[in-house]
Amino acid sequence: MKPGQIAKTWKFAAQFVFGCAVLALVTTAGFFLQIGLAATAFCYLVVILLFALTDSFLASGLLTLLAVAALAYFSAPPLLDFRISDPQDRLVIAPFILACLIGSGLIQQARSERRVGPAKPSRESSDVGLREAVKQWQQVFEHNPVMYFMVDPAGTVVNVNTFGAAQLGYTAAELIGQSVLGVFFEEDRDFVAHCVALCLETVGQSHTWEIRKVRKDGSVLWVRENAKAMPQGDGKQIVLVACENITERKEAENALRQSEAYLAQAQELSHTGSFGWKAATGEITWSKETYRIFQCDEAEKPTIPFMLQRIHPDDRLAVQRTTGRAMRDGRDYDHEYRLVMPDGAVKYVRAVARATRDANGGLEFVGSVSDVTPAKEAERQLRESEQRFRDHAETASDWFWETGPDHRVTRVSEHRETAGMAPSGVVGLTRWDIAPDAALQPEKWQQHRAALDAHAPFRDLVYRSRERDGQPIYVRTSGKPFFDANGNFLGYRGVCTDVTATIRANQAEEALRKAQIELAHVTRVTMLGELTASIAHELNQPLAAVMANADACIGWLQRSPPDLKGARRSVEWIIEDGNRASEVIRHVRALAKRTDVEMVPLDLNRVIREAVALVQREMATHAVSVRMELRSVLPNVFGDRIQLQQVLINLIMNGIEAMEGVTDRPRELVICSGPDNNGSVLLSVTDRGVGISADAIDRMFTPFFTTKSSGLGMGLSICRSIVEAHGGRLSASSNEGRGATFQIALPLYQENAS
Ligand code: ADP
Repeated sequence: MKPGQIAKTWKFAAQFVFGCAVLALVTTAGFFLQIGLAATAFCYLVVILLFALTDSFLASGLLTLLAVAALAYFSAPPLLDFRISDPQDRLVIAPFILACLIGSGLIQQARSERRVGPAKPSRESSDVGLREAVKQWQQVFEHNPVMYFMVDPAGTVVNVNTFGAAQLGYTAAELIGQSVLGVFFEEDRDFVAHCVALCLETVGQSHTWEIRKVRKDGSVLWVRENAKAMPQGDGKQIVLVACENITERKEAENALRQSEAYLAQAQELSHTGSFGWKAATGEITWSKETYRIFQCDEAEKPTIPFMLQRIHPDDRLAVQRTTGRAMRDGRDYDHEYRLVMPDGAVKYVRAVARATRDANGGLEFVGSVSDVTPAKEAERQLRESEQRFRDHAETASDWFWETGPDHRVTRVSEHRETAGMAPSGVVGLTRWDIAPDAALQPEKWQQHRAALDAHAPFRDLVYRSRERDGQPIYVRTSGKPFFDANGNFLGYRGVCTDVTATIRANQAEEALRKAQIELAHVTRVTMLGELTASIAHELNQPLAAVMANADACIGWLQRSPPDLKGARRSVEWIIEDGNRASEVIRHVRALAKRTDVEMVPLDLNRVIREAVALVQREMATHAVSVRMELRSVLPNVFGDRIQLQQVLINLIMNGIEAMEGVTDRPRELVICSGPDNNGSVLLSVTDRGVGISADAIDRMFTPFFTTKSSGLGMGLSICRSIVEAHGGRLSASSNEGRGATFQIALPLYQENAS
């Protein structure tokens, strides 16, 4: 037995004996005083409970047994007997036992609870325990997966746990003594300083914030900081900061925010918002873009009545029907409707929704809503432009046609303005079926059909079309092929213009030109008739020379011996004169012949000399002399030799006639040629005749103006039209002295321009 236990046993025995003695005392007093069973029992109860205050429950229990025995023996009849005959006495003894046991038990419990309180340790054991506790807390501090910092009011790190320093890539020693701001981003440091100051102002209060920290390697660490300022033993403040790593959460949040931002941006760019609609509760959620489309404040909760209010009154019923049907059948839907914005503007939207079930099996619609106003607007403009095009087409004098892959007409726009102009009844025919000139111009049509077969566009094909009112009509057409989306050739589309008027004008012009040539020819022939004497003279001279040289030749041959040398010379002269005569005849024939205009580069001096040669005799007959002042080197002109000679002869003849009555001065014609400064060659015929009156100068070039009794009045008008056809100018002026000057300006021949 341990010494403590022995002492305890002795203590128990002594107290028990003392208790028995007190009980004996009470019993003796009660017996002799005859106080009765109940009073004695009460006295015993008081003694036992008092005893229980000092000792164990076991001792109280033993004393209770002794008390019951004493009550039965000394107080309950029959006295001095342990039996209890009176039932009422039993009713007293039973509660007595219970009261003793319960009371002792409660006292014992209270005593033992009091004993459990901290036992006053000794000073030594208290120091050991404290060190132990500090050590344990140190361990917790160091290795707790929470970063702890202790920062003084100046922001210097006083302490940091190993975990906290390691999270930042430092050792604790590297951080202690440094400013805590060093582990924060530059731009966040003011905020950190503010938070530390706030903690110091509100000592004992916790503050929480989220912030980024910079690791030693420069990477970012997001933390949630919980900080609190506390007074230290020395009365100074210290800020305790506990940080939780929330980098993953922040990254996830950022990624989510970014993807939401991308989605919002995509929705904004595509003018497409999204929505969710729980059919059972009517709860609607909108994306930012949907709010924008509906022009609704994001703070407002979208509701069906609000949406209906925004929808164009004419579309509301249709929208309600569509959504109602989708809700009833649990089916997807896709519809378009208009919105009326607060400023009255109308917006077209298309909503497409898919029916799904939520986790509880409730019907839910998830969909998109797109602003299709620009598309609608474009469609409207397209329709308008189509209408505008149609209006233009219907009011234009042109008409439009379309042919199929086989080049047969499929459509012709035959509107009121072109009615009767565009050939009707041509649908089903090809262009060459329609054109009566197809057989006459096979080459043109072959080329056209080759272009069509190559599916090449064509421009300005002019052809004779069907007759209208017995008159042929001419059409100019252009077309381009069209294809389907796969590039298959579908036919041609094009436009036709009625060019009958232009063609007829061209034909009239051509007829006029021919008539003019004819007329010029007639006047030339007439002129030649007048020149018969001159021509005969021109021919006579070489013929006379031929005759003379032939005689001479005979003379040379009749000599003995014949002078062959002389004969040969005579024959050579005969040949020369023969050539001269044949040249005159050729020239006259050329003038008399009706030839087509032949434009060639010409030496104007030669043209002048040849013309003068033809009228030589005429001049001689009228005693007119001619002086030619021709510039020796003259640039060529481009023209028809015969026509220009006709002009010259005409002017010379007029000059001769103008000087017919002149007797007081020499009858002289001056013919000049030379370049001018404007890129032309000038030719002038000056006479010393009657001159031109002011009245005649305006009218002399008009047809049939003549002052001569036998004149036709066509000469000058034909001369002017010939010169103008050469791109030149014919003018007349009265000389200062006497007579008139006729001047022709002809453009120079330019090789490149021809
Ligand atoms: P015609 O010689 O048959 O009269 P022209 O057309 O050649 O026809 O001439 C028209 C008119 O111009 C002449 O009748 C004459 O009055 C006038 N005329 C033409 N040449 C001269 C000229 N050299 N001097 C004066 N008048 C002239």
